Amino acid sequence: MTEVERLVMLYLFLVGCIVGSFYNVVGLRLPVGESIVKPRSQCPVCGHRLSAWELVPLLSYMCLRGRCRVCRAVISPLYPAVELGTGLLFALSFYVYRWTGDTLLLLVLVSLLAIIFVSDVRYMLIPDRVLLFFTALILLLRLCFLPSEPWWDAFLGAIAGFALLYIIAIVSRGGMGGGDVKLFGVLGLILGWQHTLLAFFLSCLSGALLGGAALVIGKVERRKPVPFGPFIVLGAITAYFFGESLVEWYMRRIG
Ligand SMILES: [Zn+2]
Repeated sequence: MTEVERLVMLYLFLVGCIVGSFYNVVGLRLPVGESIVKPRSQCPVCGHRLSAWELVPLLSYMCLRGRCRVCRAVISPLYPAVELGTGLLFALSFYVYRWTGDTLLLLVLVSLLAIIFVSDVRYMLIPDRVLLFFTALILLLRLCFLPSEPWWDAFLGAIAGFALLYIIAIVSRGGMGGGDVKLFGVLGLILGWQHTLLAFFLSCLSGALLGGAALVIGKVERRKPVPFGPFIVLGAITAYFFGESLVEWYMRRIG
């Protein structure tokens, strides 16, 4: 790795933290019909409007030790987690794919997933406007910077993702939300059909493992619906970064 590439990684980490902070705002406000540019964020408990330095990603949370400066109410760790996660994944994207179209596509994927993560955890909702915006962006990227795989793989992925989740939604009678179905269609555009199926498998696996663990330690109540979005995020990211090696490993096992 060259000096310049190290600098780009650091730069992407910082950019990721900053846009991650914006994705928090988008994920929190868009589903309830609020503007994503104005007004500035405020403490949900006392209404204190955050000053410029209180909006600095990660650092402000650490300086304030996770509490509102005025009323000392606890700030949700969701915000710094999304900022840090976006920053780390932006840097990792470049580390793995360097100067290729895949890096760009991955930055878009991480952005989409960050927003979905926030709105799904908060409202159990995946906004259509976010999905539409990213569908347009992904198609544009696919046209401009053709990544390595053939173009039809993206469309096959979209159809596979949508159809699979649609069938499961019908069979499970509402166990899978409409937002999840549409999201998998969009993910298919990025992942291609093989990695879409893998992402779905990994989402279910992590959901079963982590959901089961949460039940055992009494973190969630049985019968209370759990958002599936965070597991989709986990599955899709893993499929993108490790998909190739996982599919290869599986093929060797069955072959
Ligand atoms: Zn407050």
